[in-house]
This record gives sequence, C-alpha cells and structure tokens, in this order.
Amino acid sequence: MHATADRRTRTLAAWSKRFRYNRDWNMLTGSCLCRSVTYEVDAPIGPIVHCHCKTCRRAHGSAFSSLSSVRRDKFRWTSGADLLSSYESSPGKLRRFCSRCGSHIVAERVNQPTIMLRLGCLNTPVTERPKAHIWRSEGASWFDPKDVVPEFRDAKATTTGKQEK
Ligand SMILES: [Zn+2]
Ligand SMILES: [Zn+2]
Repeated sequence: MHATADRRTRTLAAWSKRFRYNRDWNMLTGSCLCRSVTYEVDAPIGPIVHCHCKTCRRAHGSAFSSLSSVRRDKFRWTSGADLLSSYESSPGKLRRFCSRCGSHIVAERVNQPTIMLRLGCLNTPVTERPKAHIWRSEGASWFDPKDVVPEFRDAKATTTGKQEK
C-alpha cells in the first residue's frame, strides 16, 4: 500500500517534470541583435530549411538564410514592435527587420496563416535539424553545401587572425 503510493508520487513527479520540459521546449523566443525587438511563439518549431535565393542572400548578407514556419496565431511580438521596419521584396512579401540593429527577424505574407522565423534570431535551443537547402538554383558561386571544410570553435583559423564577433 505504502509502496504503491510512493510509486504513484514518483510517477507524478516524473510526469510533471516532463510536462514542464515540453512546455519550455514549445515556447520559442527570439530577439534581434540589439535585443530591442523580441517575440515568442507558443508552438513547436516547424521544418527548418536553408534558403539560398538571391533575395535572402542580399537581405542577410550571407550564403543562405535558415528559416522555419510557425502559425501566425501562435506568434506575438513581446517588445519593440514599434522599431520594426519592413522591406517588400516581392509583392505582398514583407521582410521585417529591426530598424536599430538591422536584424532580419521574420518574413510574412500578410494574408497567409504562417509566418517565417529567421532562425539566426531564435533564442530557444531546438533539436530539430534542417530538412533541405532550397533555391539552390540561385545559390552563391562561392558556397556549396556539399563542401566539407574544417570547423573551429572560434575565429582563430581565419587568415587575418582572431576577429571580434
Ligand atoms: Zn535590434
Ligand atoms: Zn529566400
């Protein structure tokens, strides 16, 4: 009798721990570089892709932009929404960025039920791994995802020496 109660208490404790863990995992948060603009998403992250289109490359100044869609009704700005600027890169598509630091945070088509998170601004650790590279037809001439190059924990390996972040 006593042992059963103990076991039940332990099971309940384990269950609530797992519940809290899932709850934390589900609430995604993100912020721009200067931390003025922040958001949260009350949903798990969707499939992750790397977009190599030339518009993303220019907007982000990089080989590709990593993104994932989430439901619009689960997304909300939690600070700094008044600092957001946007660039309409194609009709109806708004790339929203912080006017103070320039971070691209989300992209959206206003009438669509989903919103695209720019994952470089995500704060929450996720275990999901990218599913695909898209728009490789417009990819940078100097980057191929199939290339395997050495990895370093910091900037020591650059030819110009140690660099500031
Ligand atoms: Zn900012
Ligand atoms: Zn793109």
